Amino acid sequence: MSDPTRPKGPKIIAVTNQKGGVGKTTTTINLGAALAEIGKHVLLVDLDPQGNASTGLGIDAEQRDVTSYELLTGEAELQDAIQKTEVDRLWIIPANTDLSSADIELFSNEKRSFLLHDALRQVAIDGWKFDYVLIDCPPSLNLLTVNAMVAAHSVLVPLQSEFFALEGLSQLMLSVREVRQTANTSLRIEGVVMTMYDSRNNLSQMVEKDARDNLGDLVFDTVIPRNVRVSEAPSYALPVLEYDSNSRGSQAYRAMAKELVKRNTKVKETVGA
Ligand code: ADP
Ligand code: MG
Repeated sequence: MSDPTRPKGPKIIAVTNQKGGVGKTTTTINLGAALAEIGKHVLLVDLDPQGNASTGLGIDAEQRDVTSYELLTGEAELQDAIQKTEVDRLWIIPANTDLSSADIELFSNEKRSFLLHDALRQVAIDGWKFDYVLIDCPPSLNLLTVNAMVAAHSVLVPLQSEFFALEGLSQLMLSVREVRQTANTSLRIEGVVMTMYDSRNNLSQMVEKDARDNLGDLVFDTVIPRNVRVSEAPSYALPVLEYDSNSRGSQAYRAMAKELVKRNTKVKETVGA
């Protein structure tokens, strides 16, 4: 029997944190690849004008005629924006610097916060069989990030295991609450994942403890270690799982994917009970 608690179509997750360099893009690519590896069909949406997720998956600049920008402005249809990657079951809507002007250009559009939401609705209608859509957000709480939060079922927050990691989180949560009160009442927090964790460093341990004390179960059990293979992989245009399958980074993202799927199943059972 189909699950009445879940809307038809994929689970849409916005990977967001207004700080730059905390592991949003790395998590989007590698969590996506890890979900694909266990048989899920995954669509990544690059919503950052820097286009790092697109580059990291080998989508060259000349392959970006149709990007998330054209999707948001209505100049392109969803099926024309989606591209296959080298990784089985992993697809992407790329981005380039065109997107940097979207904030201003779209401001006068009445539906400005719903553009991604409306564009992605086709994912179900067109019969795409995606299980997950992961949106890689820019390092800002701008209109692009709001579009991601309005389109999403949940928000996933990578937290760098560094001093000040938790700073800015209350601002992010405020944005989530604002979106929840207006455009997307069912938006949930998927969780917080510690990234670039160094177990030999006291600071990493302190930040993790702080996060778990403050955020409890929201923090994923899985912690993503700082691992040089993770940072090397994008220059080979591959997820770390393909670049060095046995690396600690690969293992961590596999564990995270399993944890995510398990959590989602648990939520469904609780809600359905
Ligand atoms: P964001 O998208 O939040 O700006 P990125 O995912 O681009 O952050 O990560 C910032 C930098 O940190 C990148 O150079 C990336 O390769 C590196 N990085 C991210 N996660 C790890 C990790 N687990 N181990 C080592 N380097 C990492
Ligand atoms: Mg990024």
